[in-house]
Amino acid sequence: MESEIGAPSPVLTTCPYCGVGCGVKASPDGGGGARIAGDESHPSNFGRLCSKGSALGETLGLGTRLLAPRIGDRDVPWDAALDHVAAELQRIRAAHGPGSIAFYLSGQLLTEDYYVANKLAKGFIGTPHVDTNSRLCMASTVAGHRRAFGADVVPQSYADLEAADLVVLVGSNAAWCHPVLYQRIQAARGTRGTRVVNIDPRRTATAEGADLHLGLRPGSDVVLWAGLLVWLADQGLFDWRYIGDHTAGLPKTLADARDIAGTLTDVAAATDLALADIERFYSWWAGTERVVSCFSQGVNQSVVGTDKVNAILNCHLATGRIGREGCGPLSFTGQPNAMGGREVGGLANMLAAHMAYAAADRDRVARFWGAPNVPTGEGHKAVRLFDAIAQGDIKALWVIGTNPAVSLPRADAVRDAMRKLELLVVSENVAANDTIDLAGVRLPAAAWGEKDGTVTNSERRISRQRAFLPLPGEVRHDWWILSQVAARLGYGDAFGYDGPAAIFREHARLSAFENDGSRVFDLSGLADLSDAGYQALEPVQWPVRRGEAGERGSSPVGTARLFADGAFATSTGRAQFVSPLPARPESAAGGAAVPPDAAGGLPATGGGGMPQATLVLNTGRVRDQWHTMTRTGLSPRLSTHIAEPFVEISAGDAARLGLAQGTLARVTSDHGSATLKVLVSEGMRPGELFVPIHWSGANSSGGRIGALVHGVTDPWSGQPDAKATRAGIASVRATHYGFVLSRAGRCAPSPIGDATARLSAVVYWARAPFVDGDVTFVALDTDEAGAGRFVDALLAEAGDRLTIADSSSGLYRAAGLDGGRLETVVFLGREPSLPSPDWLKTRFSEPVIAPGERRALLAGRPASGAADDGPVVCVCYQVGRKRIDAAMADGAASTEAIGCATRAGTNCGSCIPELKRMLGACARLPHAAE
Ligand code: SF4
Repeated sequence: MESEIGAPSPVLTTCPYCGVGCGVKASPDGGGGARIAGDESHPSNFGRLCSKGSALGETLGLGTRLLAPRIGDRDVPWDAALDHVAAELQRIRAAHGPGSIAFYLSGQLLTEDYYVANKLAKGFIGTPHVDTNSRLCMASTVAGHRRAFGADVVPQSYADLEAADLVVLVGSNAAWCHPVLYQRIQAARGTRGTRVVNIDPRRTATAEGADLHLGLRPGSDVVLWAGLLVWLADQGLFDWRYIGDHTAGLPKTLADARDIAGTLTDVAAATDLALADIERFYSWWAGTERVVSCFSQGVNQSVVGTDKVNAILNCHLATGRIGREGCGPLSFTGQPNAMGGREVGGLANMLAAHMAYAAADRDRVARFWGAPNVPTGEGHKAVRLFDAIAQGDIKALWVIGTNPAVSLPRADAVRDAMRKLELLVVSENVAANDTIDLAGVRLPAAAWGEKDGTVTNSERRISRQRAFLPLPGEVRHDWWILSQVAARLGYGDAFGYDGPAAIFREHARLSAFENDGSRVFDLSGLADLSDAGYQALEPVQWPVRRGEAGERGSSPVGTARLFADGAFATSTGRAQFVSPLPARPESAAGGAAVPPDAAGGLPATGGGGMPQATLVLNTGRVRDQWHTMTRTGLSPRLSTHIAEPFVEISAGDAARLGLAQGTLARVTSDHGSATLKVLVSEGMRPGELFVPIHWSGANSSGGRIGALVHGVTDPWSGQPDAKATRAGIASVRATHYGFVLSRAGRCAPSPIGDATARLSAVVYWARAPFVDGDVTFVALDTDEAGAGRFVDALLAEAGDRLTIADSSSGLYRAAGLDGGRLETVVFLGREPSLPSPDWLKTRFSEPVIAPGERRALLAGRPASGAADDGPVVCVCYQVGRKRIDAAMADGAASTEAIGCATRAGTNCGSCIPELKRMLGACARLPHAAE
């Protein structure tokens, strides 16, 4: 395709990160890279991208890719790898039955890949044990939707965020985790005057754009929303016509809500919120017809996650505020295709096309697929699945596109369990991560930019993810790999696909098969798409029913909203009000925030010498990283905002426990421990800790947070409670803090080379990339001779060395050069506050460092005396905190003014909440009042 001026047109595709599902324009550069921009025509983002999406071009390249199939340590031809996998699956099934085989999939997979994996496992191999990392992210929402609506259906569209007068963000740090939606909400706040309420125990960046932040006690959401239901009843604000015509179960649920919530004073006591704040929230919600309640991981990742979801849905059903423009509940999914996985049956308790394991569904799916081996019951959900592996019940596991050795609760025990498998197959696009390192068979799968298929975002919008790069090396599509194994197992007739369009058509036909309207998920309008029509498919929201949708160009229009007409997918056609489970000791209603660890399952592997586990450990994401960083971790830009794993703690707790900003702490639970940098924060409640989930064994010495998280799950959804593990924290002694800058390749695979082995004094390291190498932050516990040896070891191979070593002050700075080119820089000191390494990073791009400039290396800043910029706030333009401080000191009093002065916040906008926070802090300074 050529554009008007003759340059190739960009390929329209979709971002591979969060569930917003932004449209991306990719313009390949012919050398394996691509220029990335937002797709103005995509209705999810209208051209906007956040920092992660904007940096996608930096994550392309083959340096870390798995490019050939491997069995053990050998590269093998595809035929050998596929024959081996099929033969082993056959052997294990014959010896132990189909239930000894499991698949663990990912919300990163395209719908077509997901569909084929699920069909192979549940229809032909005959195992129900297929689950997905989406279990960790939105399973409670699925369960809540199914309980209330009879089907897993999101009623709303993103456009409702702009049509609402009140947006409530519950358990959602949307400013960092769904940034483009957050920007859409903020834009509506500016133009429409939309009010925003943020309900989250932590005061995050999202609260900077909220009119009210409710920092409630963790887990007490059910009480807060039960109280709202009671308030709505007592204010006479129920929509009795809607309730009477379209719902069931209100009397009991309202009575239960009265028991749970009690009086407003009781709600305040249970939630630890001020009475006035609760009244303000309730009166805003009650008095605003156009209200959208958005919820995310803070709701889902809880032992009462499904009850939280239903407590929110109850309020919308009672007021009839659902499925209409600007009013309804809207779940924000975490992953790019969590929704697509739900559609094809990627969850262990679903079969396919939103059908479950009822006899009629099993029969229908078996006949459609011509499948001989559809299981009779549900499979193990993720946490239980890895318990079954540990117990030896599962002998073979095929992991596709995910990293459970890092991301699952009790990750150390999960890693140990996988070592027991007779067969561990991992389909991946990276050559190394904590999971693939354990695999006996490694299969090279396509990465973003090479994949071709569809994904579905949080608003049910199906978008094409299109290839714009060729498959490198021996890399293949996941659907092809799975189909080839299926053929070797004797099922070739059912898996003879010639491409993703054929798979999508089959998926669409299954959604329509014997669907009399009782199944909302219906793609009959897309079941006859030609290959060309599939290629040209525009973003469309399901259901897309044959004969219902109008035409827009070559694509059907789809359905923006559901349930305003009150036609639900339950057996009665009515929505169901749902009461929470009776109060349990572990529930917020029972008063204790932290549930006890589950009995049984994987053994606790950590916790020896654990400091008193008196704190509540919360987990989550940071602004510029995605999951276990196998992709975002390649971007130098994205590593500049937050480069190290940290534990966030309130100032009071930090003082009480002797933890200073930037020092080291070990966080310990019954299941493991992590060593992290201390971040003292005003946003934390006393008694609580927050840690990010992204770091792994590949880029840190002790940042694998999954190792700490308990395996307690929600009883309805099986989703792990990742927000409330009992934990302790204690200071870790370190005598020296510093960083090492090394040219690329110098420090791999161990970030500080053999020095680590020689010097056990290294108590912490964390690695991040820059353009020409890696920066590794370190902490040592040693004497001055040991610190000196550490520096010497790192510069052992340097041709020229510059060194400052002052053992009396504990200051060591050194640089190593070869032929005048900078190879290594080491800074060590006794204080945890370090100079910024950013200027030093730029020196690695110089072919030669002139002799007159070399001393500046040890100062860490240019000889001209130019000030360092401070920690990066705006990653797009690499604007540091000090430059923004200077702009504010010069009178910049708004984010726009800061943008004019520094460019910060003028591209993707992801840093605007942080700019607002800085403006707020500046306004509170004495000089600001003068
Ligand atoms: Fe990607 Fe950011 Fe859009 Fe999410 S908000 S889909 S991470 S660009």
